[in-house]
Amino acid sequence: MSNFKGILYIVATPIGNLADISLRALEVLKSVNLIAAEDTRNSKVLLNHYSIQTPMTAYHEHNEDTKGRYLIEKLQQGESIALISDAGTPLINDPGYSLVAQVKLAGFQVMPIPGACALIAALSASGIATDRFSFEGFAPRTSGARRALFESYQKQPSTLVFYESSHRIVKCLDDVVAVYDAEHKISIARELTKTFETIVTGTVQEVHQQVRDDSNMQRGEFVVLIAGFDRKQRKADGLTDDDLELLGVLLSECSVKTAVKLAVKLSGQAKKELYKAALALNSENEAD
Ligand code: SAM
Repeated sequence: MSNFKGILYIVATPIGNLADISLRALEVLKSVNLIAAEDTRNSKVLLNHYSIQTPMTAYHEHNEDTKGRYLIEKLQQGESIALISDAGTPLINDPGYSLVAQVKLAGFQVMPIPGACALIAALSASGIATDRFSFEGFAPRTSGARRALFESYQKQPSTLVFYESSHRIVKCLDDVVAVYDAEHKISIARELTKTFETIVTGTVQEVHQQVRDDSNMQRGEFVVLIAGFDRKQRKADGLTDDDLELLGVLLSECSVKTAVKLAVKLSGQAKKELYKAALALNSENEAD
């Protein structure tokens, strides 16, 4: 026990399936003096399942300041504490940030015990690019704010990941459809690690329809992942955003005929499609 003294452990717990807990997490939860839990009644289920009898105290968003001071006093007395939330990794849309900051300021060690996290589990199995992603926590509650968020990401290369509740999932997808191209790629990860786990990946149009038409798809907990903007992605006419940008630059300097001729050489795209696009771009510019 001596090596557990005066340390705050941030312990990840399962997001559904109780088996998703590490051996190290169980060892820490058994060995610390106190477990600070977001909801002690909820965490009792997990602790009972693993026959862990460590005393618990509630630490949640409404008692962060007072309970934070109490927990630091315990660390000063040489006790060790594990912070857990209702599910997954504490601090990820769960309480704990202010405690970790206070504890570090007071000079005590904070040690992560990693494990389940809904956004990472969803990313790993969605089939949407994982090399770059932005996590936005819970999506905004109003349609206007959601659309503004999607618009701000529409041309970003990173995958957008956020949490959504069951009573807003359809409205949220209505807003996705209003902002993104119907063919844009999206994934919905629902009830991860639980009995009704469903991960649906497809176009915005397909996934929207599937969730809207199936009331079962509107139940439970959700992670939504929207693919980033891909400049190389071909549109219906076979041209990419890069092709159109190139054509636009050429049109600003030469005639349609020369611009198309050069664009064919530089992009390797079909003359017919580039010519059509050049005429459309020209008439857009004239209208401006
Ligand atoms: N700390 C948690 C984590 O590490 O993912 C997140 C806590 S946040 C308060 C709860 C939200 O996470 C849910 O409303 C849902 O959007 C998402 N979530 C949690 N568990 C999930 C699961 N099993 N399947 C899908 N989404 C889940």
